Amino acid sequence: MRILVTGGAGFIGSAYVRMLLGAPGGDAGLPVSEPDVVTVLDKLTYSGNLTNLDPVRDDPRLRFVQGDICDPALVDEVVAGHDVIVHLAAESHVDRSIAGAAPFVTTNVLGTQTLLDAALRHGTGRFVHVSTDEVYGSIDEGSWTETWPLAPTSPYSASKAGADLLALAYHRTHGMDVVVTRCSNNYGPYQFPEKVIPLFVTNLLDGGTVPLYGDGGNVRDWVHVHDHCRGIALVQHKGRPGEVYHIGGGTELTNRELTGRLLEACGAGWDRVVPVPDRKGHDRRYSLDTIKISEELGYAPSIDLEHGLAATVRWYRDNRAWWEPLR
Ligand code: NAD
Repeated sequence: MRILVTGGAGFIGSAYVRMLLGAPGGDAGLPVSEPDVVTVLDKLTYSGNLTNLDPVRDDPRLRFVQGDICDPALVDEVVAGHDVIVHLAAESHVDRSIAGAAPFVTTNVLGTQTLLDAALRHGTGRFVHVSTDEVYGSIDEGSWTETWPLAPTSPYSASKAGADLLALAYHRTHGMDVVVTRCSNNYGPYQFPEKVIPLFVTNLLDGGTVPLYGDGGNVRDWVHVHDHCRGIALVQHKGRPGEVYHIGGGTELTNRELTGRLLEACGAGWDRVVPVPDRKGHDRRYSLDTIKISEELGYAPSIDLEHGLAATVRWYRDNRAWWEPLR
């Protein structure tokens, strides 16, 4: 099996690659058969980092290509000969999409279309499109099922929704074997320190303050990146073509509650929290119904938030050399 992972030098993509290749150090174990080749295609934007692949650098099955998923000639060449594409490359930070949407539309929409076209031309066996719960917008009560209408509210989520619908359209129009995952907020090691958990943890470890948006009442579900990767692997292996699967952690918290847990984990008090004006158009609550993946594919998150957060804080404490140059 030859697998192409786009965005494989980013936070989630690199975890997927490390797990696929059975890297030592707690990343091992995915419910898919051992790959013969894992190719990473990554542009190495500000959030891509080759050191994320250090634990598997010497694995002879790993091949790294630095390049843009929007480059049709390169994508055509790289896609050839792969059985599966797991597509994670994206511009991924909501705040950046508010400051400027162009790279989001280019990479997330046009880049996905470029990959889909190449997969179609080459008859790639399976295309796993990694999407997000943010495509649904915001929900005050209850949880979204996979058939819920998409109503994204930020330029990031709108570009992800465009990509997500394109992927499904290639299944319906061309009969391509496409599966889509929509996951909630991830946390874990190697996450770029602009996202809330690594931002707060690294600020606190440095003795600084942390910014809390608005009233801190926005609710997110948190899933450890290893559980997300296990969910993606189950979908890659056993998901039905043309289907969407939710992946969640089963842990909804307000940002204020999350902040309290991070302060505790870092041994800091509420005096280190600085309230800041709310993000523009900030979605109030995300909530995924995850019955489908649990009943059909046997997915259940295995890392509870308490242990996952403690391990993540420990990782940032022990790996200053990784994050200090990124701040
Ligand atoms: P990330 O920003 O850490 O990684 C993105 C990777 O994509 C980087 O390595 C970057 O260099 C690469 N990339 C960006 N533009 C590229 C381009 N034009 N060509 C090739 N490579 C490019 O993001 P992440 O948090 O690892 O997210 C990965 C995927 O998972 C994204 O598609 C994101 O929408 C999705 N997702 C993320 C979360 C989350 O909580 N982080 C939740 C659900 C879904």
